[in-house]
Formats: sequence, C-alpha cells, structure tokens
Amino acid sequence: MIVIVDPDIEKTSDQYHQLLNYLSSLPNIQVREHEEQGAQQRLTELYLVGDTASLSLDDISAVPGVDKVVRISKEYRILGRHKNDTRSTHFEYNGVRFGQDNLHIFAGLCAVDNPEHVEIMMKALKDNGQVCTRMGAYKPRSNPYSFQGHGKSCLDYVFDIAGKYDIKVIAMEVTHESHIDEISASLEKTGHPTGVMLQIGTRNTQNFELLKAIGRQRVFPVLLKRGFGITLEESINAAEYLASEGNRNVVFALRGMKSHFGDPHRNMVDFSHVPVVKRLTRMPVCIDPSHSVGIRVESPDHMQDILQATAQGIIAGANMVLVDFHPAPDKALVDGPQALTMKELPYFIEDVMIARDAYEKRLGLAKQFYSK
Ligand code: PEP
Ligand code: MN
Repeated sequence: MIVIVDPDIEKTSDQYHQLLNYLSSLPNIQVREHEEQGAQQRLTELYLVGDTASLSLDDISAVPGVDKVVRISKEYRILGRHKNDTRSTHFEYNGVRFGQDNLHIFAGLCAVDNPEHVEIMMKALKDNGQVCTRMGAYKPRSNPYSFQGHGKSCLDYVFDIAGKYDIKVIAMEVTHESHIDEISASLEKTGHPTGVMLQIGTRNTQNFELLKAIGRQRVFPVLLKRGFGITLEESINAAEYLASEGNRNVVFALRGMKSHFGDPHRNMVDFSHVPVVKRLTRMPVCIDPSHSVGIRVESPDHMQDILQATAQGIIAGANMVLVDFHPAPDKALVDGPQALTMKELPYFIEDVMIARDAYEKRLGLAKQFYSK
C-alpha cells in the first residue's frame, strides 16, 4: 500500500510526525519513506510493507495529512500501474519532459568514433530541431577483440559539442558503476553543457549490482533495455530494482528478442508490446528499431524495414525512439550496417511524425467511440 502525503505538509511538521507514528504503530507493518522531487513540488510517499491486506483503504485515507492511498495490486510496486493509481506517468530532466503521452527521437551514433562525426551528427540534429541524441562511449561487445568504445577519453568532447548544438539529453550506455563517476566528472569539467540518460544494455538488464548502483543515484534518468532472452516480467522487475533503490526516472526500451524466428532481422521485433508496458507500468516506453531490425534493407515499395518497424512502434504509442545514424556508415566502428545516413535524418523525422499523428488520431477515435 502506498500512502501519498498531502503536498502542503512539511516533513518537519507535527502533523507529519503524527502520521508517521500512526502508520508505524500498525501491527506487522513497516513504513518506508520515499521522496520525489517533481517540477512543481516535492511529493512524499510512504510505502507500507507487510500485512497490508487487513488495512482499510478508507481508514488510512481519513488520517490527517493523507492525500491519497493506492493499494498495490501487483508486483512492480513503484513503477507499476495499480488500480486507482493517479501517480504521474512522466518526469522532467534538463528541461525535457519524458512521459507516456509524448515522444522524443534519440538519433545518434551507436559508438562514438571521432569528434568530426560527433559534430556532423549533433549539427544535423540541431538543424532538424532535435534536442536529444544517443552516443555510445562504453560498448558491450560479444567479441573481446572488437572495438570496446573510447570510454572516458571521448566524454569531454562529446559533451562540449552537445552544448554547442543545444543538445539537452544524451542516451549513453554504462556497463560498470565507475562509468557514472566518469560521466559526472566530465560533465563537471566541461561545465554541464548537456545532460545524460544512463542506458542499461540488454546484456546487463539483470546485472543486479549495476542496477542497484544506478538506482542509488538520482542525478541521471535511466533507459533500461528489455533483456533479449528473459521474460517481460523479469525485465520490468529489473526496472523496479532501479526504483526500489530510489531512482524512478526510468524509460523502458523494447529492442527486439533474440530468436532465429526473427530472421533475417537481427532480433524479433517486439513493438506490439508498447501498449502492454504502458498498461502494466507508468514508465514511458522507448523503441529501438536499429538493434531490433539490425540491417538496412528495403522492400519493393522503397520502404526500409527500420522505418517500417519504427512506424509500427510509434503508431502503437511509443514515447521515445533510439536509432542509429552515422555520417559514413561504412566507416562506423560498431553497427554500421544498421545505421541510417545524415541525408535520411529529415526524412526519418517526418516519417515518425506521420506515424505519431496517426497514433493521435487513433486515440481521438477510440475516445469518441467509447464515450458513446
Ligand atoms: C546499443 O543501444 O548500443 C546497444 C548495445 O543496444 P542493446 O543493449 O539493446 O543491444
Ligand atoms: Mn549498437
């Protein structure tokens, strides 16, 4: 059970202490406090753990200082969507709002290779009205002899160039908790010209110690990739690890599942699960068409599979698209065969907007139909 404290009540007030004492005195109940800083106000939530089945929703709601009470119906206590749960489905980071109701494109380099390519990419994004990107510095590779990413040595120039082109958020994978400190140090050194969303890759979805470390910090939001060989429930529980440690600014990414049934695509595209994740949880949902489809191929109608998969995710209500671009895909050090080109960026954005517009029209139609 989650008790949401009236936002007007100070944590130092007598009323707050009385509320806390009352809840703590309930038999077989432990109380865990969680504070959430929203754009406008600070919210305090009290998690009641233990024998909550015997508690009455009405009794707890009537206690002075209580704004709302949510009975947790399922797992995923913090990020799950429960019955009568009106808690927010969005968060803000570095001036950018991430929600289940809006959409951002994160086009960028799978792996940073050199400052020239970073600059071409960021400039193209600015020229096309974009404020987010993806930039891989730490690359988890299947083969130990493959390029592992430039790591911390590229961070300063990536952040400087991002600042020059008004990029507000960079999705960047981290594979070890020390990378959080390296990113923080570089942002500090360069004067915080941009922001970072820490990405947890599909190979690390169940790296619980990494999840806990990333969850303990509240500076950076997190993009958690679905594990490519585990159940959806296990992947959502991985997201819940982040929230249970304190960080609930989490976006959940679908990136395809490992299966030869998806051939000739790199993975089996799973974007029909966009509405499923939005129904089960309050997280914004990202799609990664590049790592799902994994190849540049087009059908006789000249539509590329990567764009088709993107449209399928967007028309189903996705809130973020993570997509690989490269100024010279044949020279890319990682995943060149799936990268789109700079020339294709405005086309890609326009195509995404068509699909988003169709989603919004479908929403309107559904509302109209069921209000009859
Ligand atoms: C990536 O986005 O660069 C990546 C490695 O993705 P995934 O973890 O989904 O394979
Ligand atoms: Mn990649």
